[in-house]
Amino acid sequence: MRKIQFGDATLVTLTDARPPPADFRYAFAAHTADFDAPARQIWAPDGLFHTRFAVHALVQDGAVTLIDAGIGPEPSAYFNGLSGRLDTELAQAGLDAAMITRVVFTHFHLDHVGWASREGRPCFPKARYVAPEAELAHWQRLGGEAALPHHVAAFARSIAPLLAQGLVDPVRPDHPLPGPLALTYRSLPGHTAGHCAVIAADGARRLAIAGDSWHSPAQIERPDWGHRADADPQAASAARRSFARWAHDTGAVVAAGHFPEHQAFGRVAAGDDGGLVWEPLG
Ligand SMILES: [Zn+2]
Repeated sequence: MRKIQFGDATLVTLTDARPPPADFRYAFAAHTADFDAPARQIWAPDGLFHTRFAVHALVQDGAVTLIDAGIGPEPSAYFNGLSGRLDTELAQAGLDAAMITRVVFTHFHLDHVGWASREGRPCFPKARYVAPEAELAHWQRLGGEAALPHHVAAFARSIAPLLAQGLVDPVRPDHPLPGPLALTYRSLPGHTAGHCAVIAADGARRLAIAGDSWHSPAQIERPDWGHRADADPQAASAARRSFARWAHDTGAVVAAGHFPEHQAFGRVAAGDDGGLVWEPLG
C-alpha cells in the first residue's frame, strides 16, 4: 500500500493480487524485435513483466471512492487460481467495505471488476457504481462477444448483477461523475472500446488514475508497444501518446495500477531525445 496527498484528498494504491511475472516478450508480444531496446532494459531489466492488480481508494472527508475492483475474492481460473486480498488491504489502510460510497470503473476487464459483487450481491452495500457510457454500451450491445471468454465470464459474475439491480450509472467523458470529489472520465479507447482514465481536479492541479493506458513504464517512452490485452492496438497506442502528452503538459500526478508499487505514482517528464519518460515519485 502506498499513499499520496492531493489537496485534501488521499489516494491509496492497494494491491489486490500479484500474478506471477510473465516473459516481457509474451506480455508485449507484438514487439519482440525491440526486446533489446533501452526502455525494456530500464523498466524490465530481468526480461520479465512484473505487474499487479491494483485498486485505488480516493479518500476525502470520510467518503471513499474506489477506482476499479481488482480480480476479486474467488480463485480465478484464468490466472491459475489467483484470488484477491482487497479486504485485507482495505483493513490495513484503515478502511472497510461500509465506508465505500462509490466505485468507478475504468473498463470491464476481469482484473478490474472482481470485487464489484459476490454471489449476486454488491460487495460494497452503500456504493453506487459508475462506468464509462461507451464501455457499458459496448458490453450491452455485444454481450458474450464483447471480449475474450474470461472477461465475459467476469462481467457476467461481477457486473451483470449490479446492472440488474440498477446500481450502475453510465457517464460520458468530461462530464462530472456523480458523488463527492470532482472527478471526470477521460476517454482513452483502444485497450477496450470505452476505456477511460479518471481525472481529479484541484484548482489547476490534476491527478489521473490511468486505468490500463499503460501496463509498463516502458510504454511512456515507447507508446507503440502494446500489451497483449489491448483490443485495438492502434487506438491504444494513439491513446497512450495523447495521454502522456496531456500528463506532461498539465504536470499531472499519475497513478498506474499495473506498475510495481514502488513505481506506481509518477509524472510524465521530457526525455533526453525529445520523447517522454516515466518519472516515479519518491
Ligand atoms: Zn488491467
